[in-house]
Amino acid sequence: MGASLGGHMSTVTDGKVVIMHYTLKNVAGEVLDSSDGGEPLPYLHGAGNIVVGLEKGLAGSAVGDTKDVEVSPEEGYGLPEGPGPQPVPRDQFPEGVELLPGMGFQAQADNGQTMVVYIAKVDETSVWVDGNHPLAGETLFFTVEIVGVRDPSEDELAHGHPHGIDGTESH
Ligand code: ZN
Repeated sequence: MGASLGGHMSTVTDGKVVIMHYTLKNVAGEVLDSSDGGEPLPYLHGAGNIVVGLEKGLAGSAVGDTKDVEVSPEEGYGLPEGPGPQPVPRDQFPEGVELLPGMGFQAQADNGQTMVVYIAKVDETSVWVDGNHPLAGETLFFTVEIVGVRDPSEDELAHGHPHGIDGTESH
């Protein structure tokens, strides 16, 4: 309550919606992902919307800041584990759904647990799925520009993620 009289800086802290432009490169300098030319990406800081290493690297930043953040695999998408890609017959996937490498989806393991798996590759008979994120084991190099910081709505806080850049998107 009350007016904030100057000195009120919006910085990246837990519970804030942060709106950023970002470019992600791998160790070879190849661009893996970027918001360039598109809308900036909103996320709720401290809620695990983005990889933990990037959250740590952005904490305390202010609107207008540009930051280079290097994220280890351990604080990124983890280290590869398990047997690697396994084939699943194509006919176990719904028809008319485009299946592309890198796509993630929820699957049920033999023990009934729900897990996220990723498509490693697709061939004529099989979709090869892997419990490892495609970027598991990679060191990630982010360049981020903070373009906005705002308070979340009650809905956004309850859901643990932003509803669009201005908080008005429904889903
Ligand atoms: Zn929501």
